[in-house]
Amino acid sequence: MAYALLNVKIYDYQKYEDLGFIVIDEKIIATGKMSDYKNLGYEEFNLAGKLVIPAFVSGHTHLYSTFARGMSLKFNPTNFVEILEQLWWKVDHFLDRDLIYYSSLIGAMNQLSFGTTTLIDHHASGEIEGSLGLIKKAIVERLGLRCVTAFETSDRFDVEAAIKENLSGFKLREKSLANSLFGMHALLSLSDESLKKISRNLNNNGIHIHVAESLMDEEDSISKYGMRVVERLEKYNLINEKSILVHCTHINELEMDIIKKHNAVIAVNVTSNLNNAVGISQIKKFLDKGIRVISGNDGLIPSQPIEYLNIYYLSHLKESSPIGFSLDDLKRIITNTYEYTNSLLGTKLGRIEKDAEADLLVLDFNNLTPVDENNIFSHLFYGVFPGLKPNWVIARGKIKYKDYQETEDYSIDRLEGLTQAKRLWSRINEGGNDVRFKY
Ligand SMILES: [Zn+2]
Repeated sequence: MAYALLNVKIYDYQKYEDLGFIVIDEKIIATGKMSDYKNLGYEEFNLAGKLVIPAFVSGHTHLYSTFARGMSLKFNPTNFVEILEQLWWKVDHFLDRDLIYYSSLIGAMNQLSFGTTTLIDHHASGEIEGSLGLIKKAIVERLGLRCVTAFETSDRFDVEAAIKENLSGFKLREKSLANSLFGMHALLSLSDESLKKISRNLNNNGIHIHVAESLMDEEDSISKYGMRVVERLEKYNLINEKSILVHCTHINELEMDIIKKHNAVIAVNVTSNLNNAVGISQIKKFLDKGIRVISGNDGLIPSQPIEYLNIYYLSHLKESSPIGFSLDDLKRIITNTYEYTNSLLGTKLGRIEKDAEADLLVLDFNNLTPVDENNIFSHLFYGVFPGLKPNWVIARGKIKYKDYQETEDYSIDRLEGLTQAKRLWSRINEGGNDVRFKY
């Protein structure tokens, strides 16, 4: 049955309504000013001045990394590749079918509690075949959210099997709910032979790949192949307007121009870059060149607004200027993220209007100073994004959180998630030191 949110402030990064209503079924079926509201038999919720915004999208995440939280491991990296070898490649090596399903489920539940209802995932696991289907099962079927999957093809895996899994990912497409990209780990773990194979199998689909996350990716490409990372991707016809190039921390102007020429998007994950100490992307320059920049979280933190805060403040540092990156620049990244996702899923996420997707957040909102359509984003950024936990989360029209409480019982899933996490930790502790990587 349709229901109505009444007496709410409504903001979708484009329009602001100070006292409005939203009627929701599977989608938004009506919205407007309270003075225009008519009850046509809807269940009503008076939200008395709360703020409604679109739910978040993570433009790049790794749900497979979920069970690494709190894990104790011998860890003493001196550079970025050693972080991969000592941590992430050990975690993904031991993921079997149950671990793939539960890490996706528990990770997506965690991000949902912070208001994210659509996840663009980048997956790697020792068990390759069927892995993308398990992720979709956890996110779309069990949790009622939306996802875009990809398997990180890499020379440390069976490349043929990884290609096959990406191709089967395309069969999981379901309008408005699921889609797939062709996943590649990073060029430093892919030979020319592998790139040729991927290129032959791409069929105009988009790739999803880490690009120049650390300087080592560029150095490796230049020393082994005599060209930069993005040039090498272009050489094998791997970039198009559906592609996500992740990070791009160390790309130069020439590479930016190639990305712009093919109209690919760059997914930035600044908090992860800080954590790995790899550098800060030139986000302002990407935007000024007209490149579509979107925002992910790299699986590191479940909260998308923390990424938004860090993008803004770090870009000031990068530009060495307190006005070198504006709130409008940030807003552009947020709206780009919705628009790009809409192009993949055939949705209308990120808008609060008739026929748009009903993926929404209801937030407590006490404006300390006057609010209007010109300054609402500033109120959101300074007053709401820091520490944001949504009061309500609505996904695909269903209320998933209300008054900060889950509306469905996931306690058995959580318990099983803990058991699976323990199992992964023992598997790594028993066999992790024997894992060696060839690429
Ligand atoms: Zn990543």
